[in-house]
Amino acid sequence: LTAATLARIEAARDLNAVLSVNPHAAAQAAQVQARLDAGEPLPLAGVPVIVKDNINVTGTATTSGSRILRGYVSPYDATAAARLVQAGAVIVAKANMDEFAMGSSTENSAYGPTLNPHDPARVPGGSSGGSAVAVAAGLSAVSLGSDTGGSVRQPAAFTGVYGLKPTYGRVSRSGLIAYASSLDQIGPFARSAEDLALVMNVIAGHDPLDATSLHAPPAFTAGTPDDLRGLRVGVITESLAGNTPGVEATLNATLDALRGAGATVAEVSLPELRYAIAAYYLIAMPEASSNLARFDGMVYGQRAPGSDVTEAMTLTREQGFGPEVQRRILIGTYALSSGYYDAYYSKAMKVRRLIADRFTQAFGQFDVLVTPTSPFPAFRRGEKTSDPLAMYAADVDTVAVNLAGLPALSVPAGFETVDGTPLPVGIQFIAPALHDERLVQVAGALE
Ligand code: GLN
Repeated sequence: LTAATLARIEAARDLNAVLSVNPHAAAQAAQVQARLDAGEPLPLAGVPVIVKDNINVTGTATTSGSRILRGYVSPYDATAAARLVQAGAVIVAKANMDEFAMGSSTENSAYGPTLNPHDPARVPGGSSGGSAVAVAAGLSAVSLGSDTGGSVRQPAAFTGVYGLKPTYGRVSRSGLIAYASSLDQIGPFARSAEDLALVMNVIAGHDPLDATSLHAPPAFTAGTPDDLRGLRVGVITESLAGNTPGVEATLNATLDALRGAGATVAEVSLPELRYAIAAYYLIAMPEASSNLARFDGMVYGQRAPGSDVTEAMTLTREQGFGPEVQRRILIGTYALSSGYYDAYYSKAMKVRRLIADRFTQAFGQFDVLVTPTSPFPAFRRGEKTSDPLAMYAADVDTVAVNLAGLPALSVPAGFETVDGTPLPVGIQFIAPALHDERLVQVAGALE
């Protein structure tokens, strides 16, 4: 299976979903076979998995989609990767991504864009576009991405697969290259609710290596239609405007299916959501500017030659970071600087609290909340690259969930035909903190 998977990855090179294959995949597969022969029960025995290139896997190149980490080889496993291997999975390859997970289209990778298999002229979404395409194109059964503001859910929607962003703290961030630490979560892509459940039961759970890790053992199962009876579903009013006709139709069809299975559906307004994008970028960029300070050519990856250490660091960062990363470091540093901190960063933190409180209030009345994952299906490559604000606006339905630390799942729910090509549409379900299991149950019930 590992050999067949590697051949499939090779045959799908045009998609540019994979940055490198794991040189130890065959050895890992042999080890799995030996453990099976010894009678060890392995929940993911031999399952090929592809992980985003910001997740450390021992002995693999780990670039985070950046030139600055070209040549860097991980000396250790991220906890999520270690748990997959412990469960018998074989990590076959590392997936392409927007540089340091900054983007919504996988066009910000230093190693070229990933193509959407549904239409190669379109983006797969981002920043975990490579991981999404890995599953959508059948290169691996499941994959891991990371979601700071939608980077698992939005590419899942654009490529027609499931993508789960767990409650903040349910999956260890140890070994995940940090973008914005208070928002980052590792999450799985899969082609069924059952596969999501299998992966979550392996990767979730407390980890002493992550100080924000929660004590909440995973108990995921794919639900049955019975689970929808009496489910109280709230549709977020603010997500109903500005959608394409196909997204609107898919949302309505999903709501009809929920009602048909015995759920109650009502609208609920969360007015503070209109500030979510502004607050998100004013929190994510400052955290990024701080997290990326470690990439100066002294310890990791590439180092540009300079006549002294300051020049070497400056040139390394100038040549190693792409334009979007540099933009975010500059804006993030600005928003944290004396005189601007109160106006920007501190204000954004207050909005974050209001958004979290409003979600808590809504969950007093509803078991799950629903929105489209994105107001539109996959857009054309190049369409938003010259306008960063248009690219940021693509996250309108996903970022608030990260600000509030909640779990959310994008479910492939339909298609919108654009210029004769059917493009996948995703619907997002949001649950209260620590109720990630409910999302996978609902997804299974809808299958
Ligand atoms: N598109 C968002 C950003 O650029 C989200 C990225 C992510 O979730 N990693 O910040």
